[in-house]
Amino acid sequence: MAKILVVDDIEDNITLLCFNLEDDGHQVLSARSGEQCLQITADEHPDLILLDLMMPGMSGTETLTHLQASAESRNIPVIMVSANDDDDSIIDALDVGAYDYVTKPFIYPVLAARMRSALRLQESQRQLREANSLLARLASLDPLTEVYNRRHFLHLANAEFAKARRHGRPVSLIMLDVDKFKGINDKYGHPGGDQALIALTDLCKEVGRSSEIVGRFGGEEFAICCPDTDAEGVLAVAERLRSAAEQHRVCFENNHISFTISLGTTTISASDQDFDEMLRRADRLLYQAKEQGRNRVCGDMEPA
Ligand code: GH3
Ligand code: MG
Ligand code: MG
Repeated sequence: MAKILVVDDIEDNITLLCFNLEDDGHQVLSARSGEQCLQITADEHPDLILLDLMMPGMSGTETLTHLQASAESRNIPVIMVSANDDDDSIIDALDVGAYDYVTKPFIYPVLAARMRSALRLQESQRQLREANSLLARLASLDPLTEVYNRRHFLHLANAEFAKARRHGRPVSLIMLDVDKFKGINDKYGHPGGDQALIALTDLCKEVGRSSEIVGRFGGEEFAICCPDTDAEGVLAVAERLRSAAEQHRVCFENNHISFTISLGTTTISASDQDFDEMLRRADRLLYQAKEQGRNRVCGDMEPA
């Protein structure tokens, strides 16, 4: 069963089509003009539209042009139904984007077969779109922690850098790394270490704002890009995260795993040519935090 919208300015045509379509088990909607068709399509999202070509006011071809122009309705198959059987009308309708063209008077079983064909194509296109968006999602995420992978993080962070430059707004970066993570793996096994990494990314999301972009950079190294955040602001976020990690316990096979993190923070400066410069600075500051004894934040500026 499909939701079919029948568009025709002549009541008898609608009645006849509705009778046949309902008999076939479809849910039928009807519109008496092109304008009404656009309205009902926007409200009801039909699976297929049977569109009359010649109507007073907005013609079938004009209506189809509007349907094609909107992302919402572009993928709904439209079969033109018209008494006009001249070649130009058929060519015109198909070129504008009609899926098919059926002339009146039509043989209903033939129309029904054309509708089934249109609906099959529609369904396989829907499945393809769904598969594509799943693939795009998988290609951008780290499978363990489900934060962005390095490649996608860099893509988004570079865009934030460019935006900040354009609008004269600050943008900051945190690089963080789990302290002595090898020891956690040694003590609790790799699965225990994995749980700690998942817990850490949950903390990253909880502590920050929703606009922040979290990425996994390497094994136990993560990066957070903080739009509209200055040097003082990013130090505060990093310190909250450091403290949250220190206090957190990961429940794993009757153990309560504790861990600490070291963080380096940096903020865009007028002389930065690209995001890589921020990455290099944050990395250096993270290294400094490790050198100074771990479980600490080193930033561009001293904490107030
Ligand atoms: P440091 O404080 O200097 O950062 O010491 P560390 O032990 O954390 O650093 P090191 O780079 O020596 O060790 C990182 C360890 O992280 C080694 C590697 O096996 C582990 N690791 C990397 N990826 C994963 C992962 O996905 N899961 C688990 N459980 N461990 C991982
Ligand atoms: Mg480490
Ligand atoms: Mg490391």
